[in-house]
Amino acid sequence: MNRRKFVKIIGAVTPALVMPLTSFGEGGSSNFPIVITTWDQNKKANQAAWKVLKSNGSALDAVHQGVMVPEADPKDQSVGFGGLPDRDGIVTLDACIMDHAGNIGAVMGMENIIHASSVARLVMEKTPHVQLVGDGALQFALENGFKKENLLTENSKKAWKKWLETAKYNPMTTIEELEKRIHKNHDTIGMIAIDQQQNLSGACSTSGMAYKLHGRVGDSPIIGAGLYVDNEIGAASATGVGEEVVRICGSHTIVEAMRYGKSPEEACKLALMRLVSMKGESYAKNVQIGFIALNKKGEYGCYSLLPNFTMAIVDTNGEKVIHAPSLFS
Ligand code: ASP
Repeated sequence: MNRRKFVKIIGAVTPALVMPLTSFGEGGSSNFPIVITTWDQNKKANQAAWKVLKSNGSALDAVHQGVMVPEADPKDQSVGFGGLPDRDGIVTLDACIMDHAGNIGAVMGMENIIHASSVARLVMEKTPHVQLVGDGALQFALENGFKKENLLTENSKKAWKKWLETAKYNPMTTIEELEKRIHKNHDTIGMIAIDQQQNLSGACSTSGMAYKLHGRVGDSPIIGAGLYVDNEIGAASATGVGEEVVRICGSHTIVEAMRYGKSPEEACKLALMRLVSMKGESYAKNVQIGFIALNKKGEYGCYSLLPNFTMAIVDTNGEKVIHAPSLFS
Protein backbone atom coordinates (compact mmCIF):
# COMPACT_ATOMS: atom_id res chain seq x y z
CA MET A 1 0.00 0.00 0.00
CA ASN A 2 1.52 3.34 -0.90
CA ARG A 3 1.81 6.02 1.78
CA ARG A 4 -0.82 8.31 0.30
CA LYS A 5 -3.42 5.58 0.25
CA PHE A 6 -2.54 4.57 3.81
CA VAL A 7 -2.89 8.14 5.08
CA LYS A 8 -6.25 8.41 3.35
CA ILE A 9 -7.59 5.27 5.02
CA ILE A 10 -6.29 6.28 8.46
CA GLY A 11 -7.79 9.73 7.91
CA ALA A 12 -11.18 8.18 7.31
CA VAL A 13 -11.20 6.06 10.46
CA THR A 14 -9.35 8.35 12.85
CA PRO A 15 -12.39 9.72 14.69
CA ALA A 16 -13.54 6.24 15.68
CA LEU A 17 -10.03 5.26 16.79
CA VAL A 18 -9.17 8.30 18.84
CA MET A 19 -12.50 8.94 20.52
CA PRO A 20 -12.66 7.05 23.79
CA LEU A 21 -15.60 4.70 23.88
CA THR A 22 -15.68 5.05 27.64
CA SER A 23 -14.95 8.19 29.56
CA PHE A 24 -15.65 10.24 32.68
CA GLY A 25 -15.76 9.09 36.24
CA GLU A 26 -17.85 11.18 38.58
CA GLY A 27 -21.18 9.47 38.30
CA GLY A 28 -20.98 9.29 34.51
CA SER A 29 -22.45 6.03 33.22
CA SER A 30 -20.53 6.37 30.61
CA ASN A 31 -20.24 4.22 27.58
CA PHE A 32 -21.00 5.94 24.32
CA PRO A 33 -23.14 5.76 22.27
CA ILE A 34 -26.47 6.08 24.11
CA VAL A 35 -30.05 6.65 22.96
CA ILE A 36 -33.01 7.51 25.17
CA THR A 37 -36.71 7.98 24.34
CA THR A 38 -39.98 8.87 25.91
CA TRP A 39 -42.12 5.78 26.67
CA ASP A 40 -41.17 2.12 26.82
CA GLN A 41 -43.28 1.35 23.75
CA ASN A 42 -40.61 3.16 21.74
CA LYS A 43 -38.09 0.35 22.25
CA LYS A 44 -38.34 -0.50 18.56
CA ALA A 45 -37.50 3.09 17.70
CA ASN A 46 -34.50 2.89 20.02
CA GLN A 47 -33.32 -0.26 18.27
CA ALA A 48 -33.44 1.50 14.90
CA ALA A 49 -31.43 4.38 16.35
CA TRP A 50 -29.00 1.98 18.01
CA LYS A 51 -28.28 0.29 14.69
CA VAL A 52 -27.05 3.62 13.35
CA LEU A 53 -25.10 4.50 16.50
CA LYS A 54 -23.29 1.22 16.88
CA SER A 55 -22.02 1.36 13.32
CA ASN A 56 -20.51 4.74 14.18
CA GLY A 57 -23.31 6.74 12.57
CA SER A 58 -24.19 10.23 13.75
CA ALA A 59 -26.61 11.00 16.57
CA LEU A 60 -28.59 13.03 14.03
CA ASP A 61 -29.08 10.04 11.71
CA ALA A 62 -29.86 7.86 14.71
CA VAL A 63 -32.67 10.00 16.13
CA HIS A 64 -34.08 10.54 12.66
CA GLN A 65 -34.18 6.79 11.91
CA GLY A 66 -35.57 6.21 15.38
CA VAL A 67 -38.58 8.52 15.24
CA MET A 68 -39.42 7.28 11.75
CA VAL A 69 -40.43 3.95 13.32
CA PRO A 70 -43.56 5.12 15.20
CA GLU A 71 -44.28 7.63 12.41
CA ALA A 72 -44.82 4.71 10.03
CA ASP A 73 -46.68 2.51 12.54
CA PRO A 74 -50.47 2.71 12.08
CA LYS A 75 -50.97 1.19 15.54
CA ASP A 76 -49.30 4.12 17.23
CA GLN A 77 -52.17 6.58 17.52
CA SER A 78 -50.15 9.58 18.64
CA VAL A 79 -47.42 9.83 16.01
CA GLY A 80 -47.50 9.96 12.20
CA PHE A 81 -49.63 7.56 10.16
CA GLY A 82 -52.66 6.47 12.21
CA GLY A 83 -52.41 9.39 14.64
CA LEU A 84 -55.67 10.53 16.24
CA PRO A 85 -57.15 13.48 14.36
CA ASP A 86 -58.23 16.93 15.50
CA ARG A 87 -61.88 17.66 16.26
CA ASP A 88 -62.60 18.09 12.54
CA GLY A 89 -61.27 14.60 11.81
CA ILE A 90 -58.03 15.83 10.24
CA VAL A 91 -54.66 14.34 11.22
CA THR A 92 -52.07 17.10 11.57
CA LEU A 93 -48.45 16.37 12.43
CA ASP A 94 -45.79 18.30 14.34
CA ALA A 95 -42.08 17.47 14.43
CA CYS A 96 -38.70 19.02 15.04
CA ILE A 97 -35.07 18.04 14.94
CA MET A 98 -31.87 19.59 16.34
CA ASP A 99 -28.25 18.60 15.87
CA HIS A 100 -24.98 19.09 17.75
CA ALA A 101 -24.11 22.22 15.79
CA GLY A 102 -27.26 24.12 16.75
CA ASN A 103 -29.00 23.44 13.44
CA ILE A 104 -32.77 23.20 13.77
CA GLY A 105 -35.82 22.44 11.66
CA ALA A 106 -39.52 22.00 12.35
CA VAL A 107 -42.90 21.47 10.74
CA MET A 108 -46.20 22.24 12.41
CA GLY A 109 -49.76 21.30 11.60
CA MET A 110 -48.68 19.44 8.47
CA GLU A 111 -51.22 17.12 6.80
CA ASN A 112 -50.86 14.06 4.54
CA ILE A 113 -47.15 13.31 4.96
CA ILE A 114 -46.15 10.32 7.10
CA HIS A 115 -42.60 11.29 8.03
CA ALA A 116 -42.89 14.74 9.56
CA SER A 117 -39.39 14.35 11.04
CA SER A 118 -37.92 13.92 7.55
CA VAL A 119 -39.57 17.13 6.37
CA ALA A 120 -38.32 18.90 9.52
CA ARG A 121 -34.81 17.69 8.73
CA LEU A 122 -35.12 18.98 5.18
CA VAL A 123 -36.28 22.38 6.47
CA MET A 124 -33.11 22.37 8.59
CA GLU A 125 -30.77 21.28 5.82
CA LYS A 126 -32.22 22.85 2.68
CA THR A 127 -33.90 26.14 3.60
CA PRO A 128 -32.83 29.40 5.18
CA HIS A 129 -35.71 28.94 7.67
CA VAL A 130 -36.29 26.87 10.77
CA GLN A 131 -40.07 26.34 10.83
CA LEU A 132 -42.75 25.71 8.22
CA VAL A 133 -46.45 25.42 9.02
CA GLY A 134 -49.60 23.90 7.52
CA ASP A 135 -50.05 24.21 3.77
CA GLY A 136 -46.58 25.70 3.33
CA ALA A 137 -45.00 22.68 5.01
CA LEU A 138 -47.04 20.32 2.83
CA GLN A 139 -46.14 22.25 -0.33
CA PHE A 140 -42.45 22.13 0.60
CA ALA A 141 -42.68 18.38 1.27
CA LEU A 142 -44.39 17.68 -2.07
CA GLU A 143 -41.85 19.81 -3.93
CA ASN A 144 -39.14 17.68 -2.36
CA GLY A 145 -40.55 14.36 -3.48
CA PHE A 146 -42.69 13.31 -0.51
CA LYS A 147 -45.90 11.49 -1.33
CA LYS A 148 -49.33 12.65 -0.23
CA GLU A 149 -51.02 9.97 1.91
CA ASN A 150 -54.20 9.59 3.88
CA LEU A 151 -53.03 9.52 7.50
CA LEU A 152 -56.43 8.72 9.06
CA THR A 153 -56.71 4.96 9.59
CA GLU A 154 -60.05 3.20 10.12
CA ASN A 155 -59.20 2.71 13.81
CA SER A 156 -58.46 6.36 14.40
CA LYS A 157 -61.55 7.37 12.45
CA LYS A 158 -63.62 5.07 14.66
CA ALA A 159 -62.11 6.58 17.81
CA TRP A 160 -62.85 10.09 16.52
CA LYS A 161 -66.48 9.18 15.67
CA LYS A 162 -66.86 7.82 19.20
CA TRP A 163 -65.37 11.01 20.62
CA LEU A 164 -67.87 13.06 18.59
CA GLU A 165 -70.71 11.50 20.59
CA THR A 166 -69.72 13.65 23.58
CA ALA A 167 -67.11 15.90 21.93
CA LYS A 168 -65.58 16.71 25.32
CA TYR A 169 -62.00 17.91 25.10
CA ASN A 170 -60.09 17.07 28.23
CA PRO A 171 -56.35 17.34 27.88
CA MET A 172 -55.92 17.67 31.64
CA THR A 173 -55.18 14.00 31.97
CA THR A 174 -56.51 12.20 35.02
CA ILE A 175 -54.54 9.26 36.35
CA GLU A 176 -57.23 6.87 35.20
CA GLU A 177 -57.11 8.27 31.66
CA LEU A 178 -53.36 8.24 31.80
CA GLU A 179 -53.26 4.54 32.56
CA LYS A 180 -55.63 3.86 29.68
CA ARG A 181 -53.49 5.99 27.40
CA ILE A 182 -50.36 4.08 28.28
CA HIS A 183 -52.01 0.76 27.69
CA LYS A 184 -53.10 2.04 24.30
CA ASN A 185 -49.50 2.91 23.47
CA HIS A 186 -50.31 6.52 23.31
CA ASP A 187 -47.91 9.46 23.20
CA THR A 188 -45.36 11.65 21.52
CA ILE A 189 -41.90 10.35 20.77
CA GLY A 190 -39.00 12.48 21.97
CA MET A 191 -35.61 10.91 21.30
CA ILE A 192 -32.09 12.00 22.21
CA ALA A 193 -28.82 10.34 21.29
CA ILE A 194 -25.12 10.79 21.87
CA ASP A 195 -22.87 9.16 19.30
CA GLN A 196 -19.34 7.74 19.41
CA GLN A 197 -17.94 11.18 18.62
CA GLN A 198 -19.81 12.35 21.71
CA ASN A 199 -22.10 14.58 19.69
CA LEU A 200 -25.71 15.03 20.77
CA SER A 201 -28.85 15.33 18.63
CA GLY A 202 -32.58 15.03 19.22
CA ALA A 203 -35.90 14.65 17.41
CA CYS A 204 -39.52 14.89 18.48
CA SER A 205 -42.61 13.82 16.52
CA THR A 206 -46.33 13.74 17.28
CA SER A 207 -49.86 14.02 15.95
CA GLY A 208 -50.49 16.23 18.98
CA MET A 209 -53.29 16.11 21.51
CA ALA A 210 -56.20 14.13 20.11
CA TYR A 211 -59.28 16.18 19.13
CA LYS A 212 -57.45 19.49 19.45
CA LEU A 213 -58.76 22.58 17.65
CA HIS A 214 -57.74 22.57 14.00
CA GLY A 215 -54.55 24.64 13.83
CA ARG A 216 -53.48 23.99 17.42
CA VAL A 217 -49.76 23.46 17.87
CA GLY A 218 -48.30 22.02 21.08
CA ASP A 219 -44.77 21.82 22.41
CA SER A 220 -43.39 19.00 20.29
CA PRO A 221 -42.22 20.98 17.22
CA ILE A 222 -41.10 24.00 19.28
CA ILE A 223 -37.36 24.13 19.83
CA GLY A 224 -36.81 24.87 23.51
CA ALA A 225 -40.16 23.37 24.53
CA GLY A 226 -40.50 19.82 23.13
CA LEU A 227 -36.78 19.47 22.41
CA TYR A 228 -33.50 21.22 23.06
CA VAL A 229 -29.88 20.26 22.42
CA ASP A 230 -26.72 22.03 23.56
CA ASN A 231 -23.74 19.97 22.55
CA GLU A 232 -21.60 21.31 25.40
CA ILE A 233 -24.13 20.46 28.09
CA GLY A 234 -26.81 17.96 27.14
CA ALA A 235 -30.29 17.63 25.70
CA ALA A 236 -33.90 17.21 26.82
CA SER A 237 -37.27 16.28 25.34
CA ALA A 238 -40.87 16.24 26.47
CA THR A 239 -44.21 14.50 26.22
CA GLY A 240 -47.55 15.40 27.74
CA VAL A 241 -49.79 18.46 27.66
CA GLY A 242 -47.96 20.70 25.23
CA GLU A 243 -49.52 23.95 26.40
CA GLU A 244 -47.91 23.46 29.81
CA VAL A 245 -44.51 22.47 28.38
CA VAL A 246 -44.49 25.61 26.22
CA ARG A 247 -45.41 27.72 29.27
CA ILE A 248 -42.15 26.78 31.01
CA CYS A 249 -39.94 26.40 27.89
CA GLY A 250 -39.51 22.88 29.26
CA SER A 251 -36.56 21.37 27.39
CA HIS A 252 -34.53 24.57 27.38
CA THR A 253 -35.15 25.03 31.10
CA ILE A 254 -33.81 21.52 31.71
CA VAL A 255 -30.66 22.07 29.64
CA GLU A 256 -29.99 25.34 31.47
CA ALA A 257 -30.42 23.60 34.83
CA MET A 258 -27.87 20.97 33.74
CA ARG A 259 -25.55 23.80 32.69
CA TYR A 260 -25.63 25.05 36.27
CA GLY A 261 -24.78 21.68 37.73
CA LYS A 262 -28.05 19.76 38.10
CA SER A 263 -28.12 16.08 37.17
CA PRO A 264 -30.51 15.18 34.31
CA GLU A 265 -33.10 13.87 36.77
CA GLU A 266 -32.84 16.92 39.05
CA ALA A 267 -33.07 19.22 36.03
CA CYS A 268 -36.28 17.51 34.80
CA LYS A 269 -37.77 17.85 38.29
CA LEU A 270 -36.79 21.50 38.52
CA ALA A 271 -38.59 22.31 35.25
CA LEU A 272 -41.76 20.59 36.52
CA MET A 273 -41.54 22.56 39.76
CA ARG A 274 -41.45 25.73 37.69
CA LEU A 275 -44.97 24.90 36.48
CA VAL A 276 -46.10 24.20 40.04
CA SER A 277 -44.81 27.53 41.28
CA MET A 278 -46.28 29.37 38.30
CA LYS A 279 -49.75 27.82 38.19
CA GLY A 280 -50.16 26.26 41.64
CA GLU A 281 -50.27 22.71 42.90
CA SER A 282 -53.95 22.02 42.28
CA TYR A 283 -53.53 23.02 38.63
CA ALA A 284 -50.31 21.04 38.05
CA LYS A 285 -51.75 17.93 39.73
CA ASN A 286 -54.21 17.54 36.87
CA VAL A 287 -51.71 17.71 34.08
CA GLN A 288 -49.27 15.13 32.81
CA ILE A 289 -45.83 16.11 31.56
CA GLY A 290 -42.92 13.68 31.19
CA PHE A 291 -39.38 14.89 30.61
CA ILE A 292 -36.24 12.99 29.60
CA ALA A 293 -32.68 14.33 29.63
CA LEU A 294 -29.19 13.18 28.74
CA ASN A 295 -26.01 15.08 29.55
CA LYS A 296 -22.66 15.26 27.80
CA LYS A 297 -21.18 12.78 30.27
CA GLY A 298 -23.71 10.15 29.28
CA GLU A 299 -25.84 10.44 32.42
CA TYR A 300 -29.58 10.32 31.84
CA GLY A 301 -32.70 10.92 33.88
CA CYS A 302 -36.43 11.53 33.68
CA TYR A 303 -39.25 12.93 35.78
CA SER A 304 -42.99 13.44 35.40
CA LEU A 305 -45.81 15.31 37.10
CA LEU A 306 -48.04 12.23 37.45
CA PRO A 307 -47.07 8.55 37.72
CA ASN A 308 -46.67 6.03 34.91
CA PHE A 309 -44.27 7.85 32.63
CA THR A 310 -41.40 5.72 31.34
CA MET A 311 -38.13 6.26 29.50
CA ALA A 312 -36.48 3.62 27.30
CA ILE A 313 -32.71 3.46 26.96
CA VAL A 314 -30.17 1.59 24.87
CA ASP A 315 -26.47 1.84 25.59
CA THR A 316 -23.51 -0.52 25.45
CA ASN A 317 -24.95 -2.40 28.44
CA GLY A 318 -28.12 -3.21 26.49
CA GLU A 319 -31.76 -2.14 26.80
CA LYS A 320 -33.39 -0.71 29.87
CA VAL A 321 -36.65 0.97 30.89
CA ILE A 322 -36.81 3.48 33.73
CA HIS A 323 -40.07 4.28 35.50
CA ALA A 324 -39.91 8.00 36.07
CA PRO A 325 -40.30 9.39 39.56
CA SER A 326 -43.23 11.80 39.72
CA LEU A 327 -43.97 14.99 41.64
CA PHE A 328 -47.50 13.84 42.49
CA SER A 329 -48.79 10.36 43.21
N1 ASP B 1 -46.92 16.91 23.67
C1 ASP B 1 -47.91 16.59 22.69
C2 ASP B 1 -48.69 17.83 22.34
O1 ASP B 1 -49.02 18.59 23.23
C3 ASP B 1 -48.88 15.54 23.07
C4 ASP B 1 -48.38 14.34 23.80
O2 ASP B 1 -47.21 14.22 24.14
O3 ASP B 1 -49.21 13.46 24.03
O4 ASP B 1 -49.04 18.01 21.20
